[in-house]
Amino acid sequence: MKIAVYPGSFDPITNGHLDIIKRALKCFDKVIVLVGVNPDKKYHNSVEERVAMIKESCKGIKNVEVDSYDGLSVEYSKKHGAVALIRGLRVVSDFEYEWQLATANEYIDSEIDMVFFMARNETSFISSSAINELFEHGVDIKKLVPAPVIKLMKQKQKAKK
Ligand code: ADP
Repeated sequence: MKIAVYPGSFDPITNGHLDIIKRALKCFDKVIVLVGVNPDKKYHNSVEERVAMIKESCKGIKNVEVDSYDGLSVEYSKKHGAVALIRGLRVVSDFEYEWQLATANEYIDSEIDMVFFMARNETSFISSSAINELFEHGVDIKKLVPAPVIKLMKQKQKAKK
């Protein structure tokens, strides 16, 4: 069984991430979506919320698991028998960042390959940070994120008031 790990912040998961998950499943038997926990990073949503949103959003999709980890993705992949790390590429600036990441990961363990999927036209402008900003300004994000994300964001917005 070929397992791939898709690590990221997913703060929150977007239709761009979902597209990458579905396409990765055409190449791998199982995809583990790995929610990163970095104490130096400020997140909009807790790790539990991010995991819950992904689980809900992937409900109808077979062979997807969701987990969280506060260590290196390469180490997690090794522990779970994965052969590859999935990442997505949108703009050129993504490439620079991913290149550095890939080089560092190769240094840690060259057996775990990084596999990149190019963003599709219709989702290439979507980022989690843009979603959070658009939502804060009252823009309708229905077409950009899965329904469970909107549900939680609205709940949290209501609780703030
Ligand atoms: P990180 O903070 O680790 O970059 P993200 O949740 O922002 O985590 O993204 C995880 C991965 O998904 C990254 O490789 C990112 O480039 C990719 N990604 C994010 N949004 C999209 C999108 N709309 N289309 C394709 N790939 C995407």
